[in-house]
Amino acid sequence: MADVIDGKQVAATVIETVTAAVADLEAKTGAKTGLAVVIVGDDPASHTYVGAKSRTAKECGFKSVQHTLPAETTQAELAALIGRLNADSSIHGILVRLPLPKHLNSEPIIQSILPQKDVDGLHVMNAGKLATGDISTGLVSCTPAGAMLFVRGIHGDDLSGLNAVVIGRSNLFGKPMAQLLLHANATVTVAHSRTKDLPRICREADILVAAVGRPEMVKADWLKHGATVIDVGINRIAAADRGEGKSRLVGDVAFAECADVAAVITPVPGGVGPMTIAMLMANTVIAAYRLGGLKPPKF
Ligand code: NAP
Repeated sequence: MADVIDGKQVAATVIETVTAAVADLEAKTGAKTGLAVVIVGDDPASHTYVGAKSRTAKECGFKSVQHTLPAETTQAELAALIGRLNADSSIHGILVRLPLPKHLNSEPIIQSILPQKDVDGLHVMNAGKLATGDISTGLVSCTPAGAMLFVRGIHGDDLSGLNAVVIGRSNLFGKPMAQLLLHANATVTVAHSRTKDLPRICREADILVAAVGRPEMVKADWLKHGATVIDVGINRIAAADRGEGKSRLVGDVAFAECADVAAVITPVPGGVGPMTIAMLMANTVIAAYRLGGLKPPKF
């Protein structure tokens, strides 16, 4: 049976480091780390998600500000708010909850956030820094940054000689994940929906990262014996065993059978998921240190 990574525990360690760094920054400079979360509309799932982020931010000792705008907010009104947050020196991180309502165009909004405050790592400047191998001055998208923390915890900082396969090529996860692995010297293959014979490619992987959005797609016979398996997928499926109309969350990896072949595996839920909020907090305190002209903590 593989070692199962406890994402909640790793996330708690990150939060501890963030909390200490926030207190240290305040003691040194008097500045409180500030995170602004912007949400447009009244989708209950978005509010739950944003609420969890604001709570964690407060736990870390941040100044946490939430801007809840009505669903009918115009592009110009949203852009004006981003402009004010960019100019506000007490705010170090800006997060806009996506997707935005259909009448709003998210891309210009994301690109108008100051790259130094883009704690979601979605600005082209931050994506470009990662792509050119500069991970010391940009901000990296939170979920891949969290998944990479697991990989480094297992294999160390140098992945020389290891084959990594990332299934999925989204801008949000697959591409930045592949770049982080490459930066750490892994030999990286990025697979996607047009890839031929995916099981064969996965069997080459010492490190397999699945970010597809297809429940339990990766099977045990896709794995190299002793592989590290990082499951990023979050899929809700029907669970008749729990009663009528009940559901449960599963990843992109068939966990039970893969745990017999892998050396290390992440569960869903409780694996990569908890790392996303933790890395958002980490990015915010990194941004606060840099904006204050100080060397940020390392995660
Ligand atoms: P996405 O933008 O939909 O990308 C999915 C990727 O999977 C695409 O590159 C797609 O290929 C590829 N794909 C689809 N079907 C495939 C198949 N049959 N074989 C091989 N590749 C296939 O999704 P995402 O935003 O990257 O997210 C992926 C999953 O991770 C989702 O379940 C999401 O909920 C989860 N996620 C979790 C977190 C978190 O834990 N906080 C954060 C982000 C994402 P093409 O490019 O060719 O279409």
